[in-house]
Amino acid sequence: MIADNIQRIKARINDRAKLIAVTKTKPVSLLQEAYDAGCRRFGENKVQEMVEKQPLLPADIEWHLIGHLQTNKVKYIAPFVALIQSVDSLKLLQEINKQALKNQRVIDCLLQIHIAQEETKFGLLADEAEHLLNDAQLDELANVRIVGLMGLATNTDDDGQVRREFRELKTLYDRLGAIRRPNVVFRELSMGMSGDYAIAIEEGSTMVRVGSAIFGAR
Ligand SMILES: *Cc1c(COP(=O)(O)O)cnc(C)c1O
Repeated sequence: MIADNIQRIKARINDRAKLIAVTKTKPVSLLQEAYDAGCRRFGENKVQEMVEKQPLLPADIEWHLIGHLQTNKVKYIAPFVALIQSVDSLKLLQEINKQALKNQRVIDCLLQIHIAQEETKFGLLADEAEHLLNDAQLDELANVRIVGLMGLATNTDDDGQVRREFRELKTLYDRLGAIRRPNVVFRELSMGMSGDYAIAIEEGSTMVRVGSAIFGAR
């Protein structure tokens, strides 16, 4: 079933975006099934869950953190995380830089942007993101690289609203991507989940984060 779902979703994506299989709350056996069906990029929203699963699965998996990250937990994922998609402050970037340096690596990050109408969703406002990308202190962070933006659309049946939110994020991505700094190199726009990834791809997503459409409801 998982393999069928992945095949169907990949056919629909048709190489226009990367598929991140969102594996939160799912047991390692199902992650292995997704791996065997060809998935190599997994997204988790909790540090502890990612750290528990990572050593039990093949080493060539790219682990993406997609949930809110507290500074005191960065150290646990710094040795292996491929992309932190949920960066929302300079303070967090400074801690990621510190832990990346300890592990002698450069950690790729996305800035999470608040585009939804819901109050509960995390993320920076457009102005805040622009401010952060223009902050001179970024130049001191040689062990982080900001490679783009991530956002969640409002959870609604109104496809028009979802499309407008994704379009707004793409416009911001294009504008902020023109900022030239040594560790700002935009190449990923992470938007789209199980219910809206097709719209997200039409609006320029390069990376979709799909959970329930692969693994079933949580
Ligand atoms: C859970 C989650 C997803 C996947 O949601 P589905 O609707 O199950 O595809 C994507 N992005 C983030 C940030 C999530 O927390």
